[in-house]
Amino acid sequence: MNTYDVCVIGGGIIGLATATAIARRLSGCSIAVLEKEPSVGAHQTGHNSGVLHSGLYYKPGSLKARLCVEGQRQMAAYCEEHGLAFRRSGKIVVASYPHELPAMEELYRRGIENGLEGLRRLSSAEIREIEPHATGVAALSVPEAGVVDYPAVTRHLASGLQGDVILGFGVSAIANAVDGVTISSEGSSVRAKFVVNTAGLHSDRVARMAGVEPPVQIIPFRGEYYTLTPDAASLVNALIYPVPDPRFPFLGVHFTRRVDGSVEVGPNAVLALGREHYRGSRPNAGDVAETLRYAGFRKLVGRYWRTGAAEAWRSARRSTYARSARVLVPSIQPEHLETGGAGIRAQAVTPDGALVDDFSIVQTDSAVHVLNAPSPGATASLAIGSHIAALVAQRLGGGSGAH
Ligand SMILES: Cc1cc2nc3c(=O)[nH]c(=O)nc-3n(C[C@H](O)[C@H](O)[C@H](O)COP(=O)(O)OP(=O)(O)OC[C@H]3O[C@@H](n4cnc5c(N)ncnc54)[C@H](O)[C@@H]3O)c2cc1C
Repeated sequence: MNTYDVCVIGGGIIGLATATAIARRLSGCSIAVLEKEPSVGAHQTGHNSGVLHSGLYYKPGSLKARLCVEGQRQMAAYCEEHGLAFRRSGKIVVASYPHELPAMEELYRRGIENGLEGLRRLSSAEIREIEPHATGVAALSVPEAGVVDYPAVTRHLASGLQGDVILGFGVSAIANAVDGVTISSEGSSVRAKFVVNTAGLHSDRVARMAGVEPPVQIIPFRGEYYTLTPDAASLVNALIYPVPDPRFPFLGVHFTRRVDGSVEVGPNAVLALGREHYRGSRPNAGDVAETLRYAGFRKLVGRYWRTGAAEAWRSARRSTYARSARVLVPSIQPEHLETGGAGIRAQAVTPDGALVDDFSIVQTDSAVHVLNAPSPGATASLAIGSHIAALVAQRLGGGSGAH
């Protein structure tokens, strides 16, 4: 049986960024990343909007605010250094109605407090100088935002890792022993002194395998995209976002010109019928039952069923989706929207029905569990990795050459 100092469970961008940061920080430390799929980045990392978030939205002082701002600068430098597709295209966050102005001002205040560079307010006329086809009563210009090819970054991290990436290793059991843990999948096992759980949509289940009762449950929220037809793609230069509803950690349907030049509209946020229930895949009855049994989910529905029903209605009707998109770019018509992909967010929900807003990282003597790392988790991944590497170094102490 192979033995490692550290095993990272989950080969998404956060798992690989964390393994890379640990390998750098603890010289001589043996590391393996265990990934259940045949390739890295197969779930949230490979199904997201590809946006490099600036750090505008997040509560000052929160982990999200600090790690997003640090992380976006590290990510930009990483992509430049390694020649990976990336563009600091900037974005605008548009207030479409006067009643959204106070929330937009709050974003401006947060952005300034979070240390964003170049953030400024735009008048209605100035919006059109940046995005000639967009409309609104006012907006924020956020020059530090951009777009990145996160799957490429993840593959690059995997290929450069000083350690093993073991694919097709779906962790199904973790047994604690005096000097570490035995981690098993169907048919094989490895041993480790320390575990990092970055299993995304399954992180609460992996925590439970390790003997930790997570204080939250992952509820999967699907985000569905449309792609603008080539004739409509010229309506969008870069990134156009609405002012988000402050009650939810989702950013609202927006326009993203991706690194490959295509323009996506979305994502929305609807309950997924399974933790890996993408467009075209079959619902997972076990996952749905688990969600419905969770008191936190039932309380969430009790509070927000109207919003949830409206999202589901919009998901089912292209014309309704187009109507939402038209609020930002009035020329959009239903025939401009081609069905695109979908991603599933691993959103932690507390037993009292609250959507966990900040990143949640829980430590025990032999493990670190990442229990909530939705957007901007990809942007922040390199900074999250360094943050976790520091925690691991404290636990493993000088024995593995921490520096
Ligand atoms: C629709 C959508 C849009 C988003 N847009 C953005 C954006 O524009 N910008 C941004 O910064 N962030 C965005 N995010 C968030 C971002 O994608 C995530 O924060 C980030 O990818 C999380 O990375 P991760 O490594 O934690 O999770 P994942 O990428 O989900 O990786 C977890 C890995 O763990 C593996 N795994 C799970 N269980 C096991 C097991 N038992 N054994 C072994 N392996 C296991 C999975 O197969 C998976 O590969 C978006 C997310 C979604 C869903």
